[in-house]
Amino acid sequence: MNAPSPQPPAVRTTCPYCGVGCGVLAQPDGYGGAVVAGDPHHPANFGRICSKGSALGETLGLDQRVLHPMLRQFDGSLARVDWSVALDRVADGFQRVIKRDGPDAVAFYLSGQLLTEDYYVANKLMKGFIGSGNVDTNSRLCMASSVAGHKRAFGADTVPGSYEDLDAADLIVLVGSNAAWCHPVLFQRMVKNRRERGARIVVIDPRRTATAEDADLFLPIAPGKDTALFCGLLVHLANLCALDYRYIDAHTDGFENALARARAIAPDLAATARLAGLPPADVARFFELFHTIPNAVTCFSQGVNQSSQGTDKVNAIINCHLATGRIGRRGQGPFSLTGQPNAMGGREVGGLANQLAAHMGFTADDIDRVGRFWQAPRVATREGLKAVQLFDAIARGKIKALWVMATNPAVSLPRARQVREALGRLDLFVVSDNVAANDTVAAGAHVLLPAAAWGEKDGTVTNSERRISRQRAFLPPPGEAKPDWWMVTQVARRMGFAPAFPYRSAADIFREHAALSSFENGGRRAFDLGGLADIGDDAFAALDPVQWPLPAGEPRHARQPDHRFFAEGGFYTQDRKARFIAPDPPAPSAPAGKDFPFRLNTGRVRDQWHTMTRSGLSPRLGAHAPEPFVEVHPADAKAKNLVDGAFAQVTTRWGSCVLKVSVSAAQRRGSLFVPIHWSDATASAARIGDLVMPETDRYSGQPDAKATPAAIAPVTFAFRGFALTRRPLALPDGTWWARVALAQATGLLLASNDGPATWRERAHAMFGDDAELAELSDDRRGAYRAAAFIAGRLEGCLFIGPAATAPQWDAVKALFETGMLNEAARRVLLSGRSADGLASAGPIVCACFGVGLTAIRDAIQTGAAISVEGIGAALRAGTNCGSCLPELKRIVADVAGTAPAGTGSARMIAS
Ligand code: SF4
Repeated sequence: MNAPSPQPPAVRTTCPYCGVGCGVLAQPDGYGGAVVAGDPHHPANFGRICSKGSALGETLGLDQRVLHPMLRQFDGSLARVDWSVALDRVADGFQRVIKRDGPDAVAFYLSGQLLTEDYYVANKLMKGFIGSGNVDTNSRLCMASSVAGHKRAFGADTVPGSYEDLDAADLIVLVGSNAAWCHPVLFQRMVKNRRERGARIVVIDPRRTATAEDADLFLPIAPGKDTALFCGLLVHLANLCALDYRYIDAHTDGFENALARARAIAPDLAATARLAGLPPADVARFFELFHTIPNAVTCFSQGVNQSSQGTDKVNAIINCHLATGRIGRRGQGPFSLTGQPNAMGGREVGGLANQLAAHMGFTADDIDRVGRFWQAPRVATREGLKAVQLFDAIARGKIKALWVMATNPAVSLPRARQVREALGRLDLFVVSDNVAANDTVAAGAHVLLPAAAWGEKDGTVTNSERRISRQRAFLPPPGEAKPDWWMVTQVARRMGFAPAFPYRSAADIFREHAALSSFENGGRRAFDLGGLADIGDDAFAALDPVQWPLPAGEPRHARQPDHRFFAEGGFYTQDRKARFIAPDPPAPSAPAGKDFPFRLNTGRVRDQWHTMTRSGLSPRLGAHAPEPFVEVHPADAKAKNLVDGAFAQVTTRWGSCVLKVSVSAAQRRGSLFVPIHWSDATASAARIGDLVMPETDRYSGQPDAKATPAAIAPVTFAFRGFALTRRPLALPDGTWWARVALAQATGLLLASNDGPATWRERAHAMFGDDAELAELSDDRRGAYRAAAFIAGRLEGCLFIGPAATAPQWDAVKALFETGMLNEAARRVLLSGRSADGLASAGPIVCACFGVGLTAIRDAIQTGAAISVEGIGAALRAGTNCGSCLPELKRIVADVAGTAPAGTGSARMIAS
């Protein structure tokens, strides 16, 4: 008898979601899936992962994958072809356009989801061999303003500090950062510091987010006024003589000018408070904390970056740290929290249109240096087009061939509808991705290339603290999927550049990338991986997470006394001094127009990522916020006749969406908040990119996604319900729907003005002629329920009822998973009640243990739990990854009546 084969060891790899860059251990289950846990030895997370990381194992299925190269046919369909045919088509197509219209008529649009090696090869082909700067990336939407701010102040795009500084800081200021949801593991590190060391946390955000639950001070700043607040802080510190003049004199330039500008913008505390829309006492408290606590780290994220004045906001923050010498020291410094898993790797490679390669720009020296290193015949000599300009150029017919890798611009870019239309005008439109059908593919991709996904790819990523970690494969690529670097290499060879693209592995590429970073560096560039340029294949395979600057000793070229930058100056400008930047005054708030009186703010929810192509596959994650929603302040809701849980149409100059209404005092008056995740693939009318204005920051080119003028009006649906189905379902026109991943089916939450009779007529067509229907109709109550069986197996069901008493799906979901139902179970199913008579759990708060809002409220109200810890003991909620702890805190305060007025458990959107 054969002994059972031993379980293979877990593979050390890196989470593919946010810029925290947590190390994870993936244990393949032998059936194409894996169990994923935190890596206790990874310095970014020491074993902790958040709800998204915990659910990675649920996202590895192949249902949505593209498995073979596909070409668009004359009839509009996509048909499978051989790799050689697809690659020839890409190479020939690019060459034809370049020959006819020049190199600037082609472009690549890349992604912070790519590995560094993918990025490197794509950037090299376009900027070195095609000879255009037209490589940009979705990181432009995420942190381009931080890049521009760093370069203006430091002379290089260098994050000075490390995550350890968040453990050692005595004051942590979070500006425009909902870290509790967007960087959860890092945020839990901050909370631990607060709990164990007494660090103070200040949260500055127009919206009272989950992050504010753990704040000692919350400043609900007026949108766009961060520059005024930090100018006021600089003035305040200068007036108190609380600046580090030794540091200013020795290591900086431009202080007087910046201070004069700060005085002009925010001359005193009262003016600062007025400009920032904050109570003077709160501003005074923040200034006092910053003045008296030297160990201060200021973290900033999309709320700062995604602004038409984002770069100035970044520099206003950096100015305060330079002026106090609080930079590059333990527990001190400005800290950009990066959104994506490898946005930093993309920046290192040069994947933004205004970078050339390896932290070099478009100076004559850098162009010459990179050209000699690559032995490239026609290095691009000027910056390419940044994302919004790039898609404008496509719309104008200036760019005729585009390759989109690992991103979904038809959803995520501002004016997404126009982007989608522009894509339809391309002569050659190539997409390499994991998924067979997203909005970008649907925009008319001519060539669809199957890319290896997380778990199949091999290479490196860099996180927010400059730490390079390995992403390792633990599953074989399905079908004919290949890494992106392989596809680009094959195309480059076909275009005649074979000698410069000899790569056989990610390790080959990494070595070249590291060598370029140190080529003629001589300490002129912060980014230098020279110590890894000769790394062998085995050492690359085993590479531990490593932060740059590389540790002294082993690898060569290490120059920093520790792993931080700038404690003793040494900036990457000509004179090695930092630059204070005099920011522009914050633009005055535009008067509320009659047509669009609100400001639309966009963001994320805790358990989804980008356009949900991966996180949307997880039933656990889908249960937290299952529907697209708009958050509205109670006074605005009242004025506009909006009802919590009902629907509203949000309209801007560029488009409209229909979303569920969430009334919350966490929202600022006059502002609307919408999450960005839904697309045409996952909801009927919730592609938020359609609404966002194309205004960009003039230094970084980053779009302002936080302040689009908008209008809101109620939308009435007389009936609501849901469908569960194991096969695609054609819904009647006019139905509002949102797709939710379930364990054994797809869930669709529905709203409609069609009554039961209409749904009854359509049910057979929806489920197919081969389905046997069990039905329950009650025209008097306005209810219709159907269960569809094929060969005795439950294949789908449909529940429709009056909107005021919408049917709940928890009990039906549970029965659906069993598949085969006897007569009694069919009756229970159509009753919509749980077989054990238990009430619905309500929307899920704790994704790890599936604990719902109703159960938590019940526990508090019955006295079974009166604190967050008590809820953990009674229900286990919050005892695993900790991502839901801020919400538990808010629910406890809400039920106890101690929450700030009206905030309540505001996000909870009942399904
Ligand atoms: S915080 Fe969560 S999403 Fe971000 S890297 Fe860690 S596990 Fe992944």
